[in-house]
Amino acid sequence: MADDCIFCKIIRKEVPSQPIYEDHDLVAFPDIHPAAPVHVLIVPKEHMLNLNDVGKNDVALLGKMLRLSARIANEKGVAESGYRIVINNGNDGGQLVPHLHLHLIGGKPLGHKLG
Ligand code: AMP
Ligand code: ZN
Repeated sequence: MADDCIFCKIIRKEVPSQPIYEDHDLVAFPDIHPAAPVHVLIVPKEHMLNLNDVGKNDVALLGKMLRLSARIANEKGVAESGYRIVINNGNDGGQLVPHLHLHLIGGKPLGHKLG
């Protein structure tokens, strides 16, 4: 846990969110500035900066994040239409919140552009 991390604050319920899913390891909630009709953040409860911080013991956690994304995509009705999974890493990767998270984005065609 990091004291001043916004996602840690959400996990500690010091900052409100509308959780879509929560268990021992993960929480999922809507992005506050959605880029598409479906935009959900999937976040490990343990504070880690980004993929650079992921160790051998976190491999299962990453797999769980991806499985949860597919499950939420299904619940949100975009499993068939398609969706994008994004992890922004570091400054050049456009990472704004320094706590590892995965974006699930869907509900509209996103095209092929990367940047
Ligand atoms: P990233 O650029 O991958 O670090 O993205 C961080 C994301 O977190 C952005 O899409 C923000 O809109 C989102 N965000 C920041 N603060 C909150 C919050 N309090 N609740 C939900 N989403 C947030
Ligand atoms: Zn954090």
